[in-house]
Amino acid sequence: MYITQIVEQLKQEIPTLIVKVEEDLAPYTFTKTGGKADLFVMPTSHNLAAKTLAFAYANQIPLTILGNGSNLIIKDGGIRGIVMYLDALHAIKREGTKVIAGCGAKIIDVSRFALAESLSGLEFACGIPGSVGGALYMNAGAYGGEISDVLIEATVLTVSGELLHLKKRSTRGKIS
Ligand SMILES: Cc1cc2nc3c(=O)[nH]c(=O)nc-3n(C[C@H](O)[C@H](O)[C@H](O)COP(=O)(O)OP(=O)(O)OC[C@H]3O[C@@H](n4cnc5c(N)ncnc54)[C@H](O)[C@@H]3O)c2cc1C
Repeated sequence: MYITQIVEQLKQEIPTLIVKVEEDLAPYTFTKTGGKADLFVMPTSHNLAAKTLAFAYANQIPLTILGNGSNLIIKDGGIRGIVMYLDALHAIKREGTKVIAGCGAKIIDVSRFALAESLSGLEFACGIPGSVGGALYMNAGAYGGEISDVLIEATVLTVSGELLHLKKRSTRGKIS
């Protein structure tokens, strides 16, 4: 399928999705290097992210997730298919003694939020420049702490857009 055809189909199937064609990816990475994405999409809700994943899966279009770009080197030739940028999913809230954060939230902001709420556990993350999604994906850590130490559960989308709730197993660092 050509890019123009994919854009037309995306507009029909997910009309509220923000779609950019041939977006320069360098500004989104810490190294400020790299080429363009064929298609760059910015879902503003989890539902739109799920629909985007389902669309890419159904049409066999490669999809790459971009967090805060602090652990990515993008090649000059860019990225084929869809790059999904999740920056808009950045809500952070408190529920009892837990913090619930969207995958697009900066882990530094979540650490600062926990501090402001007098909740301990995320001190180690105060200098890690990634998103929550990237931190979970990479199991980010510093100063002897890591995400798997403090993660309780995660709501995730599969490659086909299915929503799953995963709880951490008692074994350190594993979720099931
Ligand atoms: C100055 C500097 C200091 C750093 N210090 C530390 C440190 O102390 N400790 C540490 O662990 N790391 C550190 N890092 C590395 C980096 O910040 C972490 O690895 C961080 O977790 C990457 O998150 P990101 O959102 O930037 O991911 P990106 O760089 O955008 O992506 C990295 C990978 O995660 C995937 N990904 C991102 N978001 C999602 C998502 N929502 N769902 C699924 N996959 C996703 C991407 O597809 C990609 O494969 C540092 C980096 C820099 C530049």
